[in-house]
This record gives sequence, structure tokens and C-alpha cells, in this order.
Amino acid sequence: MVCFSLRRVMVVLSAAVVTIGVVAGANISPLAAKPRWQTLERYQETITRDEFTRLLQNVYATRGWDDLIELGEDSAQICKDRDANTFFTLRFAPENPRKLPAQYWHWIDQLGSASDAKPLGRLHVALDPGHIGGKWAKMEERWFQVGDSSPVEEAEIALRVAKLLAPKLRALGAEVTFVRSRNRPATPKRPDDFREIARTILAKSGVNNPSDSYENGADENKEKSIRWQSELLFYRQSEIRYRARRVNEVLQPDLVLCLHFNAEAWGDPKNPTLIDRDHFHVLVNGSYLPAEIEHDDERYEMIRRLLSRTYEEEVPLADKMAATFARETGLPPYEYTTDTVAKVGTSGYVYARNLLATRVFRCPVVYFEPYVMNSNEAFARIQAGDYAGTREINGVQRPSIFREYAGAVADGLAEYCRNIRTEGRAPSCP
Ligand SMILES: [Zn+2]
Repeated sequence: MVCFSLRRVMVVLSAAVVTIGVVAGANISPLAAKPRWQTLERYQETITRDEFTRLLQNVYATRGWDDLIELGEDSAQICKDRDANTFFTLRFAPENPRKLPAQYWHWIDQLGSASDAKPLGRLHVALDPGHIGGKWAKMEERWFQVGDSSPVEEAEIALRVAKLLAPKLRALGAEVTFVRSRNRPATPKRPDDFREIARTILAKSGVNNPSDSYENGADENKEKSIRWQSELLFYRQSEIRYRARRVNEVLQPDLVLCLHFNAEAWGDPKNPTLIDRDHFHVLVNGSYLPAEIEHDDERYEMIRRLLSRTYEEEVPLADKMAATFARETGLPPYEYTTDTVAKVGTSGYVYARNLLATRVFRCPVVYFEPYVMNSNEAFARIQAGDYAGTREINGVQRPSIFREYAGAVADGLAEYCRNIRTEGRAPSCP
């Protein structure tokens, strides 16, 4: 197998925004560290060939893996470094092992029994309200304002949900920590620190004399400017990688809940389009695209995630939490129109997708995307703010959207933990 002989995918600028990885000659995605394949030695002989193949085909590499992974009878040869043409040999277990290598997170069904009132006892949940917010909200393109109404800022309302959710989870017995508790970046870097990398990324995608800046959010050439690319490296890449350090090295939770609000294209943030559609979905890690698997670091993280079996915890949990959330909110499932995801589980609401946060937080991660912030319904509810009880919104009595969100997440997690800690895990079959 010759992994450097792979046809190099032409990277068009629009794809480059998220997936470009060929920086400075290495097949590494932006700001990623060189993968440490030797850390996977502990997973030798911990997975059967059948299980490894099933997880690759059905969860992680659903669109194929070219010749980057070669499945033998007793082992898999996994390309470590496409430039050096080196391989990691993963030896298969002859049969399903009884015990998996230890990792910092605990399986919920191995936390021991729990009382009905405290089904989350001994479970450490880290809450990750999406985005940075504050003075960064407009740069993140997570801000809009209708006329003189209060601006809608995703980071701010996600944090509000997290602060309502934390005491509910603690009352159910959980230890709760925050990956972000203020509207400030976790990364000490700032956009200007990434100007050179931005210039390299643009050059690799054929933009050799990029403009320094852009006019405003509507500037159609903004993606070709150094400023826009370095902002993206700041808030999308560096920020998540610093949050990952906090999750993996400091907090080491059993589960991360990423809390977001969804939106559809709103156009001009000062004159946004409001729509009638509202929906909900949940993401877990998986469905790596062939161009992503070509990056040495993403391939490594994919294999690492597969071997650590996070999927076996994530999918039944996400499925249960999604079903509860749908029941309590009445939101219909979102149907993707892009082919970047794979539907998993049985609720109809859960998708596998390779997002940076779901990939680099090395524990089970359930990523919530409820409500369309620029739907007439959600917009009115966000404007109504937080309140106890119900209020009439567009002719219907509704609870506060923030309390509804927090309550539905807490109820779903409690239901799942009650079931699994009394009845045990059902065999998973993605
Ligand atoms: Zn978001």
C-alpha cells in the first residue's frame, strides 16, 4: 500500500474554509499537533476485526477510506504519515475482550447503582456552551438584530441555558463543570497571531495576493482576505483546541454536552430574514469525509475515537436524550441537505458528523442543535427572555425557551441514567 500515491484532492476555496490541511507541507489540519500514534499501542488486541470493520463502515468512514487503512486477517495497516509513507499496525483481538483500556472518562453503567432521585450520582458532566460571544459575537457570525429588538447572540443564550441546566443536573446527583462560563475566549491567541498561517492557507488554495481585510460580513470576497481567514483560525480552530486542552487535561469529565442554538441563513445580520421552519437535531462524532481522513491528525483522532468506543456510550445516550427533547419541545427533526453526515440511532434526530469539538474532546460528546434562532417562533421566545411558568407567544402558552431547553436536556439524561443504571446497557448495533 502506498499512501502518498493518493490522488491529491483539489481544494477549492469554499471547502478550504473548513477542511484545508495541507499547511507547510504536512497533511495536518489547521493548528493541529502532529499525531502521536504510539499512544494507540495500548489498544493492541482490544478489538476484533469484525468490530473494527463495522465501526469504520457504519460510523466513522462511511464514505470509504481509500488505501489509507488496509484490513488484513489479523491486523490493520493504518497510514501514519502520508508524506513519509509510514504505517501503524493495529493487531486485532481474536474475540471480544472483556475489559477495555482505562481512559479518563467512566462508562455510565459502570458508575455503580444510583437512587431514583439521584440517577446522575458520581457522573461528571462538563457543559460547553457554544461559541465565545461578547465582543466576538459579530466576528463569529453568531449575532443578528431585528430592528430595535434585543440582538440575538448564540453564545450568550447558550450560556444562559448552561447556567439553568447546571443546578438541575447537580440536583440529580451530577458533578457539573463548565468548559466556558463567560463570554471570553479560552485561547490566549488572537486573530492577528494567525496572519501567516492564513496567508499560507490562502496560497495553497490558489489565492496568492490576498486582500488584507474585508468590507463587512456581506463582502463576497471576504473569504479570500487574510483577516477573515485569521479570524476563523482564532474562533473556530484555536478556541476549540484550547477548550479541548481544558476538557482532556483539566476537567476530564465523563461526558461533555455541547449546547448550541441552530439557525438558517439570515442574510444581513442587521436586517435578518426570519423564517417559519423550526427544528432540532443532535450530533455525535463520526462520518469523516474522505478528504478529512487524508489528514494525518484527523485519521489518528478517528482511529483513537473508534478504539476508545466512545460511540457505544454516545449513540444510545444521544438517542434517548434526543427522543426526550423532541417529546418535550415538539420540535421536528432536521433533515440535512448536505452529504457531510450519517443518520445514526433510531430516534431520527441523531447524526454522526466530524466536528472539531466532537472529535478532539476525548470522551463521549453529545452536541445539541435545537431551535432555529431566526424562526419566527424561536425569535419571539428568545425576545421574551427568561421567566417562570408560561406566557402567550404567538397565541400559544409557552415556557421560557431557556428553561424548556435546560429541562429537556436534564430529563433526557436522567431517564437514560435511570434505565442504564438499573437495567444495564443494551448491545449496540449502529
Ligand atoms: Zn452554534
